[in-house]
Amino acid sequence: MVRCPDDNGPLKLKLHTLRGGDYELHAECRVCGKRNEFRRGDDPQRRRFRRWTAEEIQRLECSTGELGASPCPVCNAFVQRHPMPGLTILRCIRCGNSDQWRQFGSPIVCARAADAPIIQSRPLSGGNYLCLT
Ligand SMILES: [Zn+2]
Ligand SMILES: [Zn+2]
Repeated sequence: MVRCPDDNGPLKLKLHTLRGGDYELHAECRVCGKRNEFRRGDDPQRRRFRRWTAEEIQRLECSTGELGASPCPVCNAFVQRHPMPGLTILRCIRCGNSDQWRQFGSPIVCARAADAPIIQSRPLSGGNYLCLT
């Protein structure tokens, strides 16, 4: 249960999916009526998002086939089957994974960029590069 940071009131959540695979989560506090909006970029777990492995996709295919929905191995949101003309796709709305990931480019590109080692150029103290000789 998600609660309001101000008064601990229960939040009413409403999820809108957006074109391109992003989403908008509207939260409204039942106590103070404050509203908030979240997108994938605001997710506190975003840094952990990565692409499903082939193995995970297989497992999800089995479990969603039996139960209709299954927790995502990456973010724990429920993954559902989305029937499309000609095929059924698995898609996690929270972290943007999909077994047809090539068709939903943008969220996966973000996840991959986050997975890549971050190379930062840091100014060294004194402005000198050390250990170059
Ligand atoms: Zn509140
Ligand atoms: Zn997920």
